[in-house]
Amino acid sequence: MPHSLGFATGEIGTRSDLRGDDALLVVSPRKRNAQRDARRNGQTRDLERLELANDILLSGSCQNALMKLNQELVNAAIEHINRRWPDAEQAVAAALYLEDGQILTSISLDNFNAAANLCAETGAICQAYNMDQRVTASVCVSKAAGEDQVRILAPCGLCQERLALWGPGVQVAVSDSSSAGGWAARTLLEVNPYYWATEFTDDGAWPTTADHNG
Ligand SMILES: [Zn+2]
Repeated sequence: MPHSLGFATGEIGTRSDLRGDDALLVVSPRKRNAQRDARRNGQTRDLERLELANDILLSGSCQNALMKLNQELVNAAIEHINRRWPDAEQAVAAALYLEDGQILTSISLDNFNAAANLCAETGAICQAYNMDQRVTASVCVSKAAGEDQVRILAPCGLCQERLALWGPGVQVAVSDSSSAGGWAARTLLEVNPYYWATEFTDDGAWPTTADHNG
């Protein structure tokens, strides 16, 4: 039996003659429609959350409720590289905003056993979680030998998963050569529009922090 179930178009196989493992993929049209409607509702809720966050930022009425990614945060990451690794030819560091305006910084954990290495964001993410504070923005920067300027690194897939603890509205810095600072802010939803975990929520929205903790 050919295994062409239309994954390229995102459709779930509905053929009645499927057997074995393939049968796990069969979803009734009624259930599929219900899932589709729930997904649309969830996506709408995600977008509403993002719009609310933007409203708060634009109004300036609640400055500390959601700290927006800015040059100050980028500078904090760069300063942390220079402070922690002043003589290193290569280094990576990160800076995160908490919702109360604090900045947390951390560096990548290097180890002779590469399997034990950790991304630069990890330390600050764990610290935020330990403090029971929400992360609102994240920047990762890299210094390389022979380069005058640091590079802005978008969060890797693992760090996107970790930052997803605080929802689709978390801002992350991505490289943007057209901007003066060399970076642009994007939400997790923008860098990861097909987040896998939305398959496991009742309404197709991104899991809440409570969902992650559960
Ligand atoms: Zn990472």
